[in-house]
Amino acid sequence: MNKSRWGKLLIAALALGLTFFSVPVASQGQTAALRANDTELLMLGTAGGPPLRKDRSEPSSLLIVDGRPYLIDCGIGTIRRLVEVGIPSETIGTIFFTHLHPDHDLGLVDVMANDYFHLDLASDARKINIYGPPQTSELVEAAFHYISIPFEVFAAEKPGFQLGRPNHGLTSPFVAHEVVGEGVVYRDDKIQITAAENSHYALMPAQFRAHFKSYSYRIQTPHGVVVFTGDTGPSDEVVKLAMGADVLVAEVEEGLEELRGFIDHMAAQNHWPPARKQEFAAHMEKEHLTVDSLGELASKAQVQSLLFYHYNPQNKAEQQARIAGVKKYFHGPVLAPMDLDRFCLSKDEAQSEKANFESCGQNTADQE
Ligand SMILES: [Zn+2]
Ligand SMILES: [Zn+2]
Repeated sequence: MNKSRWGKLLIAALALGLTFFSVPVASQGQTAALRANDTELLMLGTAGGPPLRKDRSEPSSLLIVDGRPYLIDCGIGTIRRLVEVGIPSETIGTIFFTHLHPDHDLGLVDVMANDYFHLDLASDARKINIYGPPQTSELVEAAFHYISIPFEVFAAEKPGFQLGRPNHGLTSPFVAHEVVGEGVVYRDDKIQITAAENSHYALMPAQFRAHFKSYSYRIQTPHGVVVFTGDTGPSDEVVKLAMGADVLVAEVEEGLEELRGFIDHMAAQNHWPPARKQEFAAHMEKEHLTVDSLGELASKAQVQSLLFYHYNPQNKAEQQARIAGVKKYFHGPVLAPMDLDRFCLSKDEAQSEKANFESCGQNTADQE
């Protein structure tokens, strides 16, 4: 999108008195290229879990609906990917966490620090809303307290400075909202989000499962339905949530046989006793999705298309193997992206029931 189009959009938004954050054109010659009349998925980070990778950042996806960005998960590296793509983090007014494992949220503090640096709080009353499972408030408060330490140093050179104030005298523009139940958990004039508790914590003792929650999200947009699995194992709840979705954005591990080989390798390399090996195998099979269990889930849910994320192929051949594995069960389009790939969901006005989902930027994704 060119600069004048953004200018017009911004003027139109202001004329309508809309309070959402419009995304301005990127600085330094980069192109934000957000589109006004569709829903776009920008894959900021497509890796799953530690260890950190050179080529893929930790999980983070930007859903852009009619030009308004929503961030889903915020792993380490999210801010760098936003800078690369030319989207100022402070223009993202709403962030959602699927769950609070470290690969999904430790990039939040960088995003918040960059937001805080760029928001002019004296003249700007905007809030940044952060939604997630129980403990999201604690996470956001801790992150703000953390960034308030270095920011206070600037304040010390200004008149009236006092030591020892709460949050070092800084006012937080961040508001946490905890998702404590299933059903519709968020609604605005563009999207509605329905949450379901998935099986990512299936092996956790029941008394702790009441405290720790892992969600999948179904997001209804004007252009179709996008479902994020977050991290999950096989789950009837996720099948129900994803039923008939236009796009299922899903985590995917290797196939069962390959996975067992990997588990044997890990056990031998780390000299795991049998119980440790069994525990790891159960975690991978019951709390994550292999290509087989994802294929079955996508097929049962009758989704229109499948987009991988939170996956760790080491090369193109492994990436293709993931697609082939899922294709044994699911016959719709399967896309295997790299970081910064973009996909657009739009509705053809002539056939308003049918959504088109296609690659619309960078185009490095494998597809079949
Ligand atoms: Zn994860
Ligand atoms: Zn996880």
